[in-house]
Amino acid sequence: MNELYKETQFILNKYKISANKKLGQNFLINEEVVQNIINSSNITENDLVIEIGPGLGTLTKEILNKAGKLICVELDTKMIKILKDRFSLYKNFELLNQDILKTDLKTIIHNEKKNNNLKTAKIIANLPYYITTPIIMKLLEEKLDLESITVMVQKEVAERLIAVPGPKEKNTGAISYTVLYYASSQKIMEVDKESFIPAPEVQSEVIKLDIRKDPIVKVKKPEYMFKIIKFAFMQRRKTILNSLTNANIFKNKEEGIKILEEIGLSENVRAENLSIEDFAKIADLNFV
Ligand code: SAM
Repeated sequence: MNELYKETQFILNKYKISANKKLGQNFLINEEVVQNIINSSNITENDLVIEIGPGLGTLTKEILNKAGKLICVELDTKMIKILKDRFSLYKNFELLNQDILKTDLKTIIHNEKKNNNLKTAKIIANLPYYITTPIIMKLLEEKLDLESITVMVQKEVAERLIAVPGPKEKNTGAISYTVLYYASSQKIMEVDKESFIPAPEVQSEVIKLDIRKDPIVKVKKPEYMFKIIKFAFMQRRKTILNSLTNANIFKNKEEGIKILEEIGLSENVRAENLSIEDFAKIADLNFV
C-alpha cells in the first residue's frame, strides 16, 4: 500500500469521517497522478493558483510548495477543519468555505494580481463530477483572466470537452465548442478507478485547457453563435435545417437552405457535423 493511501486513511480515521458521495468526494491516492497534475500546470511563484474542492489536501500540499499564492474553495465544512489544521502555517494559503459556483472569481483574481503582484492565475482541481459542466462553463464564460485550467474529470466528459468538432469527430456536444472557442486543450493522462478512495464508478482523465489570448474564430455576436449551437444540440438527431427552423433562428426553411448553401453545407447536415467556423458563419449571416 502506498504512502498516499496510508496518509488518506489516517486523516479519515483521525477526524472520524467518510467520503460524502453527494459532494462528489473521491480522494486521490495515486502519487504519479498527483505529480502529473502538478507538473503539467507549471506552477511558479508568480502564480495565483485557485484549487476547487481541495478535500483532504492532497493536491493542496504540493501546490503550496510551488505557488506564489493558493486560494482553496471548498464547500464541505468538515474538510475546512482538516485543511486549516494542515496548512494554516503556510503564508501563501487562503481558504474559502463556499460553493465554487457562487464564488466571485473575477474579483478575487483581479485583487490578487493587483495587491500581491502575481502575474498569472491558474485553476487546478480534481473536480466534483456532479457539477463538472457548470464549473467548466463558469470558468470559461466569465472570461476570467486565467492562463490555464488543469482538471480531473470523468473520462467520457473529458473526451467531449477536448474534442475538436467537425465532420470527422462524433463525440461532441455544445460544450466542445465553448472549450474550443476559449482554449486550446490537451489530454494529460487517463486515470483508473483504483487511484481514488472510494473508487468512483467511472474512469477518469486529467485534461489541461490553455486559455487563448484571442478566440479561435471571429464572430460578430459570440453569444448569438452559442445560442444557435445550444439549439442545434438540443435536437441533435434532427438536421440543422429542422432544428434551427423550429427554434426560429431561421425564419423559414427556404431561408435556412439559402444560408446553408452560402456556407457550402448540404441541407441534411446535423449539429455534430459542423465545425465552429460553420456555426460562426451561420450566426454572422443570420444576424441583422
Ligand atoms: N482535491 C481532493 C483530492 O483530489 O483528493 C478532493 C477531490 S473530490 C473529487 C471533490 C471535492 O470538491 C470534495 O472535497 C468536495 O467536498 C468538493 N466540492 C463539492 N462540491 C463543491 C462546490 N460546489 N464548491 C466547492 N467544492 C465542492
